[in-house]
Amino acid sequence: MLPLVALVGRPNVGKSTLFNALTRSRDALVHDQPGVTRDRHYGVCRLDPERPFLLVDTGGIAGEEEGLAGATARQARAAAAEADLILFVVDGRDGASALDDEILAWLRKLARPTLLVINKIDGTFEEAVRAEFARYGFADMLAVSAAHRQGLDDLHAEVLERLPEEGSAEALDNDPNRLRIAFVGRPNVGKSTLVNRLLGEERMIASEVPGTTRDSIAVDLERDGRLYRLIDTAGIRRRGRIEEAVEKFSVVKTMQSIEHCQVAVLMLDATEGVTDQDATVLGAVLDAGRALVVAVNKWDGLSTYQREQAEAMLERKLGFVPWAEVVRISALHGSGLRELFRAIHRAHASATRTFSTSEVNKALEIAAETNPPPSIRGHVSKLRYVHPGGENPPTFVIHGTRLKVLPDSYKRYLENFFRKRFKLVGTPVRMLFREGA
Ligand code: GDP
Ligand code: GDP
Repeated sequence: MLPLVALVGRPNVGKSTLFNALTRSRDALVHDQPGVTRDRHYGVCRLDPERPFLLVDTGGIAGEEEGLAGATARQARAAAAEADLILFVVDGRDGASALDDEILAWLRKLARPTLLVINKIDGTFEEAVRAEFARYGFADMLAVSAAHRQGLDDLHAEVLERLPEEGSAEALDNDPNRLRIAFVGRPNVGKSTLVNRLLGEERMIASEVPGTTRDSIAVDLERDGRLYRLIDTAGIRRRGRIEEAVEKFSVVKTMQSIEHCQVAVLMLDATEGVTDQDATVLGAVLDAGRALVVAVNKWDGLSTYQREQAEAMLERKLGFVPWAEVVRISALHGSGLRELFRAIHRAHASATRTFSTSEVNKALEIAAETNPPPSIRGHVSKLRYVHPGGENPPTFVIHGTRLKVLPDSYKRYLENFFRKRFKLVGTPVRMLFREGA
């Protein structure tokens, strides 16, 4: 599964700045979708697309937070205890403090592989700062400036060097004939009920108690003559009902399931609507570029009025991913499942469709003729040509000049145009722009 790296350090040393610098997608169009909330504690670093890793920001490690903040922080700290690598972040301007010493003592007890990262090295005398932290006794220290993106390439390389090569992932991905599906969503939306029904046996225990899904990584399924691998997830815990022992790893698991699937099925509970947690899972699916189907479960118990309410809510909350198919199901009664699997296959087909250079250039030509790039303060972008840039998600690389002035709204127009023309449903689409011929 995805290796796990935890950022640990006292408040204000720059952990979240570092977290953002490492996890921020370069594809701003995808990243800044309105309506997506991002969990500021968990993200995937894809600076090397071949070797992504999960990054957890443990927040302030002090431990006196209460309520939700405390629970989130506890979960993140629990993640640190299982991390493949801990980045112990300190502040090069402030120097070593008593709180740093305390954290160091805690880290020694954890005994995980740890790298000391001295942040805010900008404007300091690096040798002196290194000398100050030398007493912590780390074999390797890295000096960076997260805010100025200095030293981040070195840091990234050091991290990769210390992480296990993806071994177990291969075991999950080893059967090309099986479509890998992850059912993701909050606890209690009905994931295990659905998987049970699909398997037709009590391989997983569905239960009213949140977090009781057994800890299996994947389970294989044959349905209507097709082969599937269901990547399991225990789901993200419901806010405010966080029980440390049971849930400590669920966010990590959800992110890992998303990473290893080909189609993510985001399960919602029709009786509860789209919550912040649902939006966070959705954000993770979009970041990963996975094909997506939304399954609205528990459709059975609803009155006509409740159904209307639910429809309006879906419209409002999912309006920004108009390309995602929404299927209403009842995992309990097994209704809607045929439609669900049809949608899954449509999404997968779109995500893996291949394109010829000529058909995409024809599309670009018509798009630009129908609606040419606008003039921005006397400057107009020129779109020269486009080539297919890969699948999963479908990617189009557009070459041109003065692309700096191409508005985001126009980029979205192009994306929608390509989507419509090639009938792409259920998958994100990436439009990349390259300056020059
Ligand atoms: P966290 O509490 O550890 O997550 O710290 P933040 O990321 O919120 O950063 C705390 C403050 O330090 C913010 O005002 C940042 O702008 C600032 N900061 C972060 N990284 C750097 C850096 O590399 N250099 C300087 N000079 N300031 C930084
Ligand atoms: P998970 O935590 O997402 O795996 O959710 P579970 O599968 O454990 O389901 C949580 C609760 O919702 C259980 O009490 C299920 O019986 C119930 N449930 C699941 N699917 C449906 C459904 O389609 N309709 C109704 N009415 N209840 C359901």
